Amino acid sequence: MTSKQPQASDLVAENQALRTRMAYLLEQAERNHNIMMRHQAFDLEIVSASTFPELVGTIFRTLPIISELEAVTLTLIDEGGDIHTVMGKLGVNFAEFPDLLFVEEVDRLGFDLGRRNAYSPIPRPLLGMYDAFKHGHAFPRPPEGLQSVALVPLLRNKRIIGSLNLGSVDPTRFTPSLGTDFIEHMASIIAICLENVISNEMLKYIGLTDSLTGVYNRRYMDRRLLEEIARARRQAYDISLMYIDIDHFKRVNDTVGHQGGDEVLREVAQRIKAELRLSDALARFGGEEFVVLLINADLDSSTFVAERIRAGIAASMIDVSPSVRVSITASIGVACLDRSDAGATPEAAAMELIAQADSALYQAKDSGRNRVLPYRPDA
Ligand code: GH3
Ligand code: MG
Ligand code: MG
Repeated sequence: MTSKQPQASDLVAENQALRTRMAYLLEQAERNHNIMMRHQAFDLEIVSASTFPELVGTIFRTLPIISELEAVTLTLIDEGGDIHTVMGKLGVNFAEFPDLLFVEEVDRLGFDLGRRNAYSPIPRPLLGMYDAFKHGHAFPRPPEGLQSVALVPLLRNKRIIGSLNLGSVDPTRFTPSLGTDFIEHMASIIAICLENVISNEMLKYIGLTDSLTGVYNRRYMDRRLLEEIARARRQAYDISLMYIDIDHFKRVNDTVGHQGGDEVLREVAQRIKAELRLSDALARFGGEEFVVLLINADLDSSTFVAERIRAGIAASMIDVSPSVRVSITASIGVACLDRSDAGATPEAAAMELIAQADSALYQAKDSGRNRVLPYRPDA
């Protein structure tokens, strides 16, 4: 007999090797399955985020964990700074998101954009060894031992809206030869979510502001008032409200025209704002009427602020056009929330507060205009 019969011990060894190989493959499959499940859960979470802080918060909190990365930052293109301004006005605290970065121009992201025209190629992710000089803009706080990075363009309809920046202490994690399908797919979901949430927040902001003057509108004030009344009651501090009405505004419109009148409204809004603190809220209530909500201010101190506003409006003429200037005055009624009346609903308390300030305003008009009158219940 020439052909060698396999020995039992060979079979056992072969079997053992196969088992080891199977166990390894199973382990890999399970690992990949787990990664996919974690990414699916992540996708669901970011898709359901309804506000900007919720979305970026989820990305920064979850992505480093599920992708086992030491650094995740996000750069957004924000021409003119509108996104930053609006998010700030909606109360986003950027200090909570040190890894959220803004640039004004697409060139600052570091991608190879070729010659920028209709045929310019879609920029590819940049993968490779971390170089502080080249990648410092994307990692302002690089973790210790950062070795390899991926800068992935965030694209919407072939337009770059920003960059997702991933960093690892593993030098082999992102190499130029690595396939990029997975991270590009992830970036495309993040880009859609970002665009959605940013447009929603912009719409929300537009719905709460007055397009003529840029200050808040009545809808915002009605809502904010309810929140502030509840808080003032809970924490036992005073809030006050001013009702401001421009004197003889019909005459202003008659002399300078409706557009001139609009210019006056814009300037008056600025002059009111100049006297307020960051915590106070100013809204145009309609026509030539403004309402100011002052937080942590009693009747005396808010009357004092109102007097400053009145003086500020009357102090100097307003330039309506290079050749036309007008003198403006305003009357102001001031009221302070009666916290002894805690049985009233916030809605009823808000209506009462506005009615009191309005009634004081009426008296200010009646007693000669260009003056401030506080509402006194027993007066
Ligand atoms: P008073 O001192 O009693 O307040 O007199 P007034 O003329 O200001 O009286 P009233 O409040 O009745 O008039 C408000 C005027 O404001 C009426 C309207 O023509 C004008 N107005 C309302 N909305 C706008 C606006 O958006 N732009 C301009 N230019 N004018 C407006
Ligand atoms: Mg009026
Ligand atoms: Mg008026």
